[in-house]
Amino acid sequence: MKILVINAGSSSLKYQLINMDDQSVMAKGLCERIGIDGRLTHSKDGEKFQKELPLNDHGDAIQAVLDSLTDKDMGVIASMDEINAVGHRVVHGGEAFSGSALITEAVMKALNDCIELAPLHNPPNITGIEACAKIMPGVPQVGVFDTAFHQTMPKKSYLYAIPYKFYEDYKIRRYGFHGTSHKYVSMKAAEYLGKPIEELKIVTCHLGNGSSITAVDGGKSIDTSMGFTPLAGIMMGTRSGDIDPAIVEFIANKENIPVSKVLSILNKESGALGISGISSDFRDLSKAADEGNERAQIALDIFAYGVQKYIGTYAAAMGGIDALVFTAGIGENDAELREKVASKLGFMGIEINKDKNNTRGTVDITADGAKVKTLVIPTNEELMIALETQKLV
Ligand code: ADP
Repeated sequence: MKILVINAGSSSLKYQLINMDDQSVMAKGLCERIGIDGRLTHSKDGEKFQKELPLNDHGDAIQAVLDSLTDKDMGVIASMDEINAVGHRVVHGGEAFSGSALITEAVMKALNDCIELAPLHNPPNITGIEACAKIMPGVPQVGVFDTAFHQTMPKKSYLYAIPYKFYEDYKIRRYGFHGTSHKYVSMKAAEYLGKPIEELKIVTCHLGNGSSITAVDGGKSIDTSMGFTPLAGIMMGTRSGDIDPAIVEFIANKENIPVSKVLSILNKESGALGISGISSDFRDLSKAADEGNERAQIALDIFAYGVQKYIGTYAAAMGGIDALVFTAGIGENDAELREKVASKLGFMGIEINKDKNNTRGTVDITADGAKVKTLVIPTNEELMIALETQKLV
């Protein structure tokens, strides 16, 4: 079975064609500048192709993807008919979706109802689905939601302590994001440990530009650090994470700016960038800190401290922890961060082996004799979307 995975943004569209027989990526690429001019980057077997072409809308982009996949030079399949299904990343599924869904008219309606919860992300996801349905009629389409994995959270985790009617009337609650990644790495961790996931308590740390941490108890998300939106939780590249909500009005008054502007600052000018004043990229911050930049060092300290606190909180929430998983750009690559996070957690059985931690590609970085397994597992959201799609079709 061959599955096309689509991640449609407002002006870009990422794709991968995955052969499910061996879970290999046959080809992948990116359409950019949709609605502006248009550029396609496509790769297969390590060979890269780039071309400029008009991409007026997502329909043009999907057509360009199909043309590339079947092209005599760039292509990997003879015709579009070889694509058995399409899996789409969808950011917000609200409370309507606790799992992936085969796209039907009713599902499209429910998806449209979720737009107000993710006004920037869901519309392009929906446009991507509509474009595929039009160009590839008859090919089953599946929506895979960033929020779905977290729908198992109990009320005590997802309700905010605000008047209950705001939950009833407006569905204001914790949703959580990065669910596809948390699900994938927790599944992989159980596989690696050779134990049924139902018997494991795992804390998964997805640390990238956006970061979130999840308590996975018996294979189910029971709590996660992101909230109603992906602004909540630990400090991130440019996002503040949790702050006292009273700060919003205070800044608005002091700076004489509207609340929307304050939120934009909290989303785009805060986090590691806001603290350091240098960069949101952790490689830049590590370099600057090594050269003696104090604010870069503080940004790194706040981040590591935040991760540490969440691990402690979630171990307490689950009544224990069997495995700790690091994933995404920072989690997979930043050995120093992992060491710093683990440094204070020996009391709860988390200890990492320095040599293993510093060796790239090592999955198990647990110190000999430590009670908790600490694992570095590269996330693969595209493969997870393909697996979910395969399951449904
Ligand atoms: P996104 O959320 O955009 O998918 P990624 O998961 O790609 O983000 O993570 C991006 C982050 O990972 C950046 O802050 C980058 O600095 C960090 N990163 C990537 N490689 C390294 C590395 N070798 N050491 C430290 N940080 C790294």
